[in-house]
Amino acid sequence: MKTALVTGISGQDGAYLAKLLLEKGYHVCGTSRDAQMSSFKNLERLNIRTDVQLESVALNDFRSVIQVLFKIRPDEIYNLAGQSSVSLSFEQPVETQDSIYLGALNLLESIRFTGKAIKLYNAGSSECFGNLNGMAADENTPFRPKSPYAVAKAAAFWQVANYREAYNIFACSGILFNHESPLRPERFVTQKIAQAARRISQGKQKSLQLGNIEIQRDWGWAPEYVEAMFLMLQQDQAEDFVIATGKSHRLQDFVAVAFASVGLDWRKYTTSDKALFRPTEIMIGRGDASKAARKLGWKPKYKMADVARLMVEAT
Ligand code: NDP
Repeated sequence: MKTALVTGISGQDGAYLAKLLLEKGYHVCGTSRDAQMSSFKNLERLNIRTDVQLESVALNDFRSVIQVLFKIRPDEIYNLAGQSSVSLSFEQPVETQDSIYLGALNLLESIRFTGKAIKLYNAGSSECFGNLNGMAADENTPFRPKSPYAVAKAAAFWQVANYREAYNIFACSGILFNHESPLRPERFVTQKIAQAARRISQGKQKSLQLGNIEIQRDWGWAPEYVEAMFLMLQQDQAEDFVIATGKSHRLQDFVAVAFASVGLDWRKYTTSDKALFRPTEIMIGRGDASKAARKLGWKPKYKMADVARLMVEAT
């Protein structure tokens, strides 16, 4: 039986990945900053709370990281932990940098220290690409990060690549475009929209204030994206992969589908508020996942409209 260590198991991707790994027969150990205090409601929602081993780990603390590696002896590590909100990163740039960059570095150093053939998947982000004016980004597209979050993810990406080249560690990054699900917290705009559509349809909310509704994103379905993470660690050689649907849609299109699925016209209830705009914003995000299709056999089935509808249905 293989053992997988999933950092950030309480999050959206952590919960779906844990479920997938359990189905594949893995012993799954997940980490949280405080496993005693975390509610692990996503694991409960997927009915796997008692099937995983849970440990407290502070990824920015080397001792804490090396300790869990000695205790768990993982074959594979999936590093999904870290401050994951672009907008919060403008408010908490140091915490963001620490949790993302230092977290990845401590994992790489710990693997190097143990000398064991542990495979590492690190959660990269499409935010690293910045504005590409609608061009689809692939693995060769340069990074031009536009937020503290994206800068931290870019730094971690290059650190992973460096440890792979310098120490021959099996370490790779998945450069994932936005992926959503009913497990997304409401801080993220897609869940904010899904919840608002439902509440407005029930007369519990009057309107929905959003930031820039002209931005375009490449939205996919989270349970499919964690399959790509797993596949990356089953390769003979560690390589980085872009994971995306290849289609981008305006935020207002997402809103329209969400509201239509409860029988409402979004225009009557939604406003765009300049105060909610970000200091710097990526206008269009779109990815080209043809390398993943070719080498991993990974192809997404769910499109933006499926994602928006399923999120509202789950509210
Ligand atoms: P979540 O925010 O749902 O989960 C991340 C987990 O990391 C949290 O559950 C939390 O666990 C832990 N965490 C949060 N803040 C910090 C912090 N400041 N320091 C240390 N740990 C922290 O993220 P997702 O599951 O959506 O994403 C997983 C990874 O993939 C993240 O690294 C994210 O940045 C990245 N990513 C996600 C995309 C998406 O569209 N979802 C797109 C591209 C990349 P706990 O509180 O238990 O410690």
